Formats: sequence, C-alpha cells, structure tokens
Amino acid sequence: MHLLLANDDGIYSPGLAALAAVASDFGELHIVAPDVEQSSMGQAITHSRPISIRRTPINGYDAHRVNGTPADCVALGADLFKGIDVVLSGINLGPNIGSSMWHSGTLAAAKQAALLGLRGIALSTPTGKADPDFERLRPWVAKILEHLLFESDVRLANVNFPPDPVGIRWTRQAVSQYDGRVVPITDPMGRSLYWLTVRRVEELEEGTDRWAMRNGFVSITPLRLDLTDDAALARMHTPATP
Ligand code: MN
Repeated sequence: MHLLLANDDGIYSPGLAALAAVASDFGELHIVAPDVEQSSMGQAITHSRPISIRRTPINGYDAHRVNGTPADCVALGADLFKGIDVVLSGINLGPNIGSSMWHSGTLAAAKQAALLGLRGIALSTPTGKADPDFERLRPWVAKILEHLLFESDVRLANVNFPPDPVGIRWTRQAVSQYDGRVVPITDPMGRSLYWLTVRRVEELEEGTDRWAMRNGFVSITPLRLDLTDDAALARMHTPATP
C-alpha cells in the first residue's frame, strides 16, 4: 500500500513524526507537508504563485516540505508520487470536531485526497501546554489504521483521539453549536486587537464526535464531499420562467 502523509502543523510537527512511525508498518510512505504551520487554512490552494518542494528527511523517512497549504501538499504529492492509495493527515495538535471541521487544514488534506479520487483519513488529538503523549496513543492509532486502511467503503474519515482512550465509536459531526468566538485584547501600545479562538461547548448530543471525545472514545466520522441538502432539494419548486 502506498501512503501519502501530510498535515497542517508543518513538516517539523511531532504529530507527523508520530504518524509516520505507526503508518510505516502498513505501507510505503511519502511525506509532503507545509514548511510552516497552516492550521485553520481550510481547503485553500495556492493558485497565484508557483510552489516549491524540498527534501527534508524526518527520522529516516523520506519527506518533503512545500511552501503552500495542506491541500497544496496533497495535490502536489499525489501528482509527483504515482500510485498513492490513501492520504493520512495529522496527527494534528488539537482536536478537529464539530464546526472546526469547516476550518481544519488537517481535514482539508484528507478531503483533497477524496477530491482526487483517492481515500483520505484525518487524525487529530487535543493538546495543552505540553505536546500530546503520542506513545500512549500509538496502539490506538495502529488499531484505527488497521481498521480504516482496509475499509474501502469509507472514502473520507475524520478521526479524533482523546488523550487517554477507553474505546472507539463511529460518530456524526456535532454541528448544532458553533464553537468559534472573538476575544478582544490589546497590543503593547494599548490598541485593540482580536483573537479568533474557540469556546468550550457544554451541550453534548449523544452519538456525535464531541460526545465521543468528552467520554474518552476515539471518534471516527465517515464524511462525504457532496454538500447538497437533498431534503431541501426535494422540497424545492422551480420558479416560473419570467
Ligand atoms: Mn493544526
């Protein structure tokens, strides 16, 4: 199996090295990641300038850094390294659940794979003052890859690992509460600045990614690219031609 690894935290993220260490047991790795952090860049691609790719081995694995977005890395990597079966993105330093899936560069790299007709799996875990304990997560990451890499029915999956998992659940995206917020701060000169950050959502809907994570379960959400609201489409009446 040929695996393309990417992320949005950048080529030097410990989460990418942790993913490579587990993924190398499942196939041949190609690593292509942004040269600097590109978190919350969503599905952006760079179209107004050319992008470069430079070799940057990580822990003995062949890896490349790109001066672009996560989606750029997958578009370029899938073009340069023929025969990629699955794109793995992560392991992100920070969860990607609920509404943050709309902003996530980690998930966007996996979505780019799906857009290209490949399969994509995004992997994320919360982080605090210290980096996540990737050694503790290692058997859980291995279990997820063992399961999802051979589950060809799932073209695109979003996986989140709690810090100390107790089990695994299939979930749906929690979208009823938006968790973004704007925090006003001041710069050293006393001028207004604003920090776009997230709030903790207390309301938990059972069966969602947020519910699974809050209860210590690894959350796997199967996704699709088609955003069409089929129920609304079926209800619509075409206006008469004016
Ligand atoms: Mn990130």
